[in-house]
Amino acid sequence: MKCSKCERDAVYFQRHSNRPLCKRHFVEDFERRVKYSVNRFKMIERGDRIAIALSGGKDSTTLTFVLKKLYSQIKDLEFFAITVDEGIENYREKTVKVAEKICRELDLEHVVVKFKDYFGLTLDEIVKVGEKKPCTYCGVFRKYLLNKTARELGATKLATAHNLDDEAQTIMLNFINADVERLARLIPQRKQEGLVMRIKPFREIYEREIVVYGFLNDLPIIFDECPYSETPVRAPVRDFLYDFERKYPGRKFSILRSFEKILPALHSMYPQINLNKCERCSEPTPRKICQACNLLSEIMK
Ligand code: SF4
Ligand SMILES: [Zn+2]
Ligand SMILES: [Zn+2]
Repeated sequence: MKCSKCERDAVYFQRHSNRPLCKRHFVEDFERRVKYSVNRFKMIERGDRIAIALSGGKDSTTLTFVLKKLYSQIKDLEFFAITVDEGIENYREKTVKVAEKICRELDLEHVVVKFKDYFGLTLDEIVKVGEKKPCTYCGVFRKYLLNKTARELGATKLATAHNLDDEAQTIMLNFINADVERLARLIPQRKQEGLVMRIKPFREIYEREIVVYGFLNDLPIIFDECPYSETPVRAPVRDFLYDFERKYPGRKFSILRSFEKILPALHSMYPQINLNKCERCSEPTPRKICQACNLLSEIMK
């Protein structure tokens, strides 16, 4: 199959645009769309010091590479990477190594922070004593550490590798769960004291495209799955959307666009509340005690 834009052989068939693309034109299209999202939401601006949440998995490794490639020439702009090591045996060690490798190759400042050092326990140890699901502890503690570390190291924004598939799933899940307030919070209304603004440069890029881009650029991509990953609620939504997208390409974009159209209404229904400082750890929280401190005291009991 020939590329729809030139005479070269195609390496990828882009279903949503119905076009075969060669390596050069695939890469061009991918990077153009990342820049489009970044510009649309003013994700990256001069004077920014951007922390990249780099787990060392395929998405965040590719994100780190792309951001450095597209934006490292701009003056007054800095990037650094944060890797959270939750302490998951036979899994996290490998991705931390990938994260270290890519940062070395890109000459990028890199910080690794460990659950063990901050919370006194690894995730493996936490799940042995805690009653909640591993992903609950992991999600809360990781978000907490990423925000705290990014802020303490002077970050103005925190870039995460959430892709179009993730976003479409989250939007649908919130609808299904009637959690409209959470849906409203998916895109923050303004900057909040103590909370580093999150940006998602891959929000309009399919997961499949991220993998292909990674391979085409010889990035160290690994497909190992976390041993705790079981997403009982998310999985059927993910499978449904995958099926729907296969039959009607581009529908994940439609979900995102519909969400963006109703966002102003969602924001006026649920105005962003001011955050307090947690009474125990001083991190930002809408409550008196933050979720991380609550979970920690529950585990310590
Ligand atoms: S699957 Fe769950 S436990 Fe594993 S890294 Fe992701 S959030 Fe953490
Ligand atoms: Zn081409
Ligand atoms: Zn706290």
